[in-house]
Amino acid sequence: MTYTPLRPAPGAPPVRVNLYSDTQTRPTPAMKAAMMEAEMGDEQSGLDPTVNALCDRMAALMGTEAAVFLPSGTMCNQIAIRVHCTQGDAILAHRTAHILTSEGGGVGALTGAQIMGLDGEGGQFAPETLEAAIWQPSRNAPPLTLVSVEQTANLGGGTIWNTNTLHRVADIAHAHGMKTHMDGARLLNATVATGIAPHEMTAGYDSVWLDFTKGLGAPLGAVLCGTTDFIDRAWRWKQRLGGALRQAGMNAASCLHALDHHVERLADDHANASALARGLQQIEGITLDAPETNLVFFSVEGLHTTAPAFAKALRDRGILVSVMGPHRVRACTHLDVDASGIDLALTEIRAAAAHFADRKIHATVA
Ligand SMILES: *Cc1c(COP(=O)(O)O)cnc(C)c1O
Repeated sequence: MTYTPLRPAPGAPPVRVNLYSDTQTRPTPAMKAAMMEAEMGDEQSGLDPTVNALCDRMAALMGTEAAVFLPSGTMCNQIAIRVHCTQGDAILAHRTAHILTSEGGGVGALTGAQIMGLDGEGGQFAPETLEAAIWQPSRNAPPLTLVSVEQTANLGGGTIWNTNTLHRVADIAHAHGMKTHMDGARLLNATVATGIAPHEMTAGYDSVWLDFTKGLGAPLGAVLCGTTDFIDRAWRWKQRLGGALRQAGMNAASCLHALDHHVERLADDHANASALARGLQQIEGITLDAPETNLVFFSVEGLHTTAPAFAKALRDRGILVSVMGPHRVRACTHLDVDASGIDLALTEIRAAAAHFADRKIHATVA
């Protein structure tokens, strides 16, 4: 059905550098040790001390009253939307938003709301675009109930929303009686890149969440934050969807470990992404914008090949990247890739690009 580089053909060389996603990191030995030592209890009865500690810490970090531990970021988005909205409601988000493109139609299936995709560069929309998209309430128009943003904007290229713009977006939404949601899957990448504290970025957002399975390197878990009332209502959906857990302290311990040890080091991922981008810029036929965080998107259109064909050629050389469009490839840096991995990846990308460039010359001659 779709191109999947993750199941290599028999005889394919082993993966040498995995730039597919920051979701593919493995827990470090220190993280595993922290998990083994975790105090645990029945999470859904509120009796898991490690989960409770994680939620308290996240609420403080995000500047909210309360927080709830969930198995995944997708469940954070889906529950937040289900709490904020009901059937027939309309949500405004960027046209490339994860909630619109990558959650299996969950918003339609679970809430029965529709997402209206806004335009804008880099996965972001301007406050003016939002303002212009808002319609007057009427009997025929769907009720506009929520505005959602992504920090960082994944398909937008891992771009960072300017904090003032975030606040303007929230003000406009609230002025029109709408709620605000922030998909903060990679929020701490934005924090580390800018030095701006999470609670400053999230001010004005009625719900926000952080994923622990991206650059933070935990095996499982995300935390959704908001007011006490919002989190109470989120708990109802957590229970209904089967997201209420038992001895989840083991997983919360990996998240706490990540907060203690894997946040500052996101700067290394950003430096590796920049180094990769600088190398890619020198390769004829490849074009890209400089990355702002750990996601490097590039186009292979100038090589007269497609993203799936290019990704396959790289896979045959032991380099894993993801396909994000007909000609768009994404390489993602994370804690399992170091500077020497970037060098190796660049060597192989150069060789693959040369192969496609050669093929083009031969095709022209023939
Ligand atoms: C990964 C991601 C999600 C979903 O998180 P999961 O933990 O994979 O369910 C949502 N939004 C964005 C922007 C993401 O990158």
